[in-house]
Amino acid sequence: MSFLVEPPPLPVRAFHDEELAELNAEFEHWPAPKIIQWAVDHFAPHLCLAASMQDAVVIDLATKVDPGIEVVFIDTGYHFPETLETVEAVRRRYGLNLRMMTVAPHDEELWKVDPENCCSAVKVGQLDRALAGKAAWMSGLRRAEAETRATAPIVARDLRGLVKVNPIATWSDLDVEGYIADHDVPVNPLLSQGYTSIGCQPCTFLPSDPGDARSGRWAGRDKTECGLHI
Ligand code: SF4
Repeated sequence: MSFLVEPPPLPVRAFHDEELAELNAEFEHWPAPKIIQWAVDHFAPHLCLAASMQDAVVIDLATKVDPGIEVVFIDTGYHFPETLETVEAVRRRYGLNLRMMTVAPHDEELWKVDPENCCSAVKVGQLDRALAGKAAWMSGLRRAEAETRATAPIVARDLRGLVKVNPIATWSDLDVEGYIADHDVPVNPLLSQGYTSIGCQPCTFLPSDPGDARSGRWAGRDKTECGLHI
């Protein structure tokens, strides 16, 4: 006999996979603010936005739709000081409802010997914790960022069963640069030092291939993704 009790269903509309596929096709033609508005209308407050703090484009867009939206940042303990400064600058600029996911002290060398498990324990584990009780989440993932992301959906179900929304999935690098300039959006100062994709300091290098923005991530290893967006 099991004493496990199922959690009560969230008071949000459930979407079948077929509906999500139809919406995904429709969202190809929607501007990002309208996609975010859809997510807020259907899932808030059981909705959050996971931010990498490379720039605040998706935060700028989302807070214009819902100023109180929960923004999650995973502090792995391995970030560049510039990234943590960006978190603070963005928090001040937008008066963010910021949820910092801090990681308990862990093996300092794990990223050296086993980056797969390091990401899994540090990043994905913290995201899982942040998403507990949520029905949906958003991120700034874009197809133009890497070949591994070229077919990323705008809306789909993730492996947890939550609805995952990527409102700027279709944006090009020029779209992002234009939005930053037009809206004076804060960016991580490492971008002006030549970094094109910013993660944890031990695993982030200047890009080795100018045509591949993520070529500086886990340089010299087979790894290309941390697992957050699977
Ligand atoms: S990016 Fe590197 S340091 Fe950060 S969690 Fe992954 S393996 Fe660990």
